[in-house]
Order: sequence, then C-alpha cells, then structure tokens
Amino acid sequence: MDDLWERALQELKGKLSAENFDTWLSPLTVDRSGEREADATLTLKVPNKFYADWLQTHYLDLVLNALRVSGAPDSMRVDFSVSDAARPRVNARSEPPPPAPRPSTPPPPMAAPSMASPSAQPAGPYATPGSGLNPRYTFDNFVVGPSNQLAHAAAVAAASSRQKRYNPLFIYGGVGLGKTHLVNAVGHRGLGDNPNLRVLFVSAERFTNEFIWALQNHRINEFRERYRNGCDVLLMDDIQFLAGREQTQEEFFHTFNSLYHADRQIVVTSDVYPQQIPEMEERLISRFQWGLVADIQAPELDTRIAILKAKAQQEHITLADDVALFLAQVVKSNVRELEGTLLRLAVKAELATRAIDLEFAKEALRGVLPKSENATTVEDIQRAVCDYYSIRLADLKSHRRHRAVSFPRMVAMYLCRQRLGTSFPELGDRFGGKDHTTVMSAVRKIDGLIRSEDPAVVNAVEAIERKLNL
Ligand code: ADP
Ligand code: MG
Repeated sequence: MDDLWERALQELKGKLSAENFDTWLSPLTVDRSGEREADATLTLKVPNKFYADWLQTHYLDLVLNALRVSGAPDSMRVDFSVSDAARPRVNARSEPPPPAPRPSTPPPPMAAPSMASPSAQPAGPYATPGSGLNPRYTFDNFVVGPSNQLAHAAAVAAASSRQKRYNPLFIYGGVGLGKTHLVNAVGHRGLGDNPNLRVLFVSAERFTNEFIWALQNHRINEFRERYRNGCDVLLMDDIQFLAGREQTQEEFFHTFNSLYHADRQIVVTSDVYPQQIPEMEERLISRFQWGLVADIQAPELDTRIAILKAKAQQEHITLADDVALFLAQVVKSNVRELEGTLLRLAVKAELATRAIDLEFAKEALRGVLPKSENATTVEDIQRAVCDYYSIRLADLKSHRRHRAVSFPRMVAMYLCRQRLGTSFPELGDRFGGKDHTTVMSAVRKIDGLIRSEDPAVVNAVEAIERKLNL
C-alpha cells in the first residue's frame, strides 16, 4: 500500500499546482492499522475532519484516478482516518516533533466514514440508500445575515409542518453562497421532527444520471416510484443542470406535478433566477414560480466574520478577532472560498507549528490574495487567457467557433464571472457582442469541468489565476 500511494502521489503531483499538492496531498500517509489482506481499501491519515471532508469533495476523484493509473484495482476505495500523527512529511524529519502551539482542543476522536467516490458507483436508483443528505449541513451551523435571511426563513418554513409553507421553494444565488447547505438543512429538520418522513435529496445531475440509467436498464417504473410516490420532501439541487436536457426536464415536470398535487414539499436550488436558466421549458419555469422564489446574495462583512468564527469554532481553530476581520475583508466572493482560506491557513499554521496571528495570516495568504481591491479587470483576464493559450485578443472576441479559440473564450468568460462577478449581458458585450445565454452556458460548462476535476481545465484556471494573482 505504501508503494502504491507513493506512485499515486507522483502521479498527482503532475496534476495539481504545487501549492495545492503541498497543502492537501503531500502530508497524507497510509494508515496501516486495521489493514487486511484482500481488502481493497486504502486508508489515509488526515489531521482533522474538515481536512477529510475537503479532500473528499475536492480531491477524491483525482486520488482514485491516480491510484488506478498506478496499478490499483478498479474496486479500490479510499478511507480517511483522523489522527494527530498526520503531519509526518514535514515533522518526521525534525525529531522530536515540536509541540503544536495552538492552544485549541484537539479534534474529538471520530470514526472516519467510508468515502467511496460517488462517481465510482453505478448511477442506479439503488446507489444512494437513504435520504442522500450531507450530515454537515444543518440549520444549527448556518449563519443568518441580511444576505440570506429570506432564503433561510423560507427554508425553515418549508421544513415545518406547522408554518405556512411555500411550495415549491426556489432558492437561487451564486456559487458557494449556501444553497446546498440550506436545502440539506430542510431535510435534516424535517427528519428531526418526523423520523418517518421520506426525504430525498438529489442533485439535478444525479437525477439525470439515474433517469438515463433507469431508461437503459428498463427500470423506469422503479425510478418513477421512487421520485413520484416514494418521497414526502424532494430536495433538488442545482436545477440549472437540466438546461437543454429536454427528456429529463419532461420527466422532472411529471415528477413535480405528482408531488405538488399530493401536497409534498419541493425545494429547488439554482445558480440563477428561474427565467434565466437557458434552454429550460417555459412550463417548468412557470411552476418554479408558483411558490416562493428566494435569493441568496454574497454575505456582508459582518456575516462573513460570523461565518469565519462559527467555522473556526467547529473545527477547533483558534481565530483571533483581528485575523477574522482581515480574512473577511479580503475574501468577499463567497462562503466556500472564505472557508477554504481559513482552513488553508490552519493547515499551514499546523505544518509550520505556529499560531495564526495577523502577521502569519498576511504572510501565508500573500500569493493568494488580490493585490488591491478591484485591481483585476475583464481585460486583464482576457489577456492572461490569451497568453496562456497563445491566441490573439481579437480571436477571443471574435465569433470564430474553432475549439482552439472557443475553449479559451469559455475559460475567460468563466474567470470573469467567478472572479469579478461581471453580469452575463455585460460579459456578452465585452466578448465582442455575444448573447448573454452564450456566456451563461460557457460559464456552466467550465464550472462542470472544474467540478469533475478535468485536469486540463483545472491546471489552466489555476495557472491563469496565479498569473493574475487572483
Ligand atoms: P452553494 O450550494 O450555494 O454553491 P454551499 O451550500 O455548498 O454553496 O456552501 C459552500 C460552503 O459554505 C459550505 O461548506 C457551507 O457550509 C458554507 N456556507 C455557506 N453559507 C453559509 C452560512 N450562511 N453559514 C455557514 N456556512 C455557510
Ligand atoms: Mg451547491
């Protein structure tokens, strides 16, 4: 197992930026306690639970691929075990290990859950027994502020059998602002009040995959039974994924109607307002607006501080007020990034066996943070993308559809949207007069590739961001 992991690490090194590799992967070692012959599970030691969760959502697929390329059987699974001894690559050389100065309590011992890659499983209706809810996303650890108050209140109501419910509840907002968290919280609250409630949480992508699988395997009746009759609360995440998928939309339309007429609660999330989902059937769009459409905006400074503090407490990270303020001031875009920054800092401090003070935070984040506010413009991003792909700015703004030009164009649109938050219509203008729906589908496409950890795209985006100091 050690050799296999070493080979996989080499493989991974070529796929990630040095910073990500050093922060997240190189400290991992193989946990051999409990290893059994013929057991195709690789257990990796991690310093805390957040680290495990982070690896699972961001790197598990990549790790599994690297293992396969390095000779692991296809059935290999990866588990994480939380252990204090998981800082060896740095500390092992300096013996004895210096005591960690962090005055925080150590993370509570926990049984690391088994974490097989969801994509490694068949996308059949039996792939997820149970509700599919993420246990980490509850109302208790959701910080409420002006930016998400309406969506939060509506979600609480949707989970309640006593309050007035809005059906369907449609929550929309940009990436990393808490939609998936809220919609999971609805499920947990519902189950907490009534353990027999049949809650089904599913991403639109998974719904689509299961639907296709059911069609191909002649299991459509079971599929329909599960979604139309087998649930009391349907939580459908990232509905924008259905854009352009006519047959799945049709299926969802009937699912929606069955549930709605049986007075079953439906909660849907999307990264845009219903009407702005491109290539979505009008009749679905209009149904989305029958209940309540609630938005989530990027959090204000005070909410960002509160989120950081809550997160730090949850993860047993000691976070001084001035450091929280500093982080909240510089990371504005979304909560996922805010969390990621905090955790990265905590891991760095742990590796360097230092406390997180303001100086350390500034130093550690220097390369990651923007030079100054709004320093980067659409044009900066366009130029950096052109440099990276060696194409001309004029081509980027042209209507040429050749992949050598159209792909960099999509990457540039994605970066502008994500990093500058420029509106879709404005981006259309800035890219030589494209329609806003073209920009939207480009952003979605690149976002999908990044989520599936497509190495070419991930590397390109990381390299360009590094260059721009984003
Ligand atoms: P989205 O689905 O909108 O892209 P997520 O729900 O995945 O965003 O949120 C990204 C991360 O930020 C999650 O880890 C989530 O727990 C956290 N998060 C978002 N909003 C809040 C909040 N208001 N309070 C606490 N954590 C939050
Ligand atoms: Mg989400």
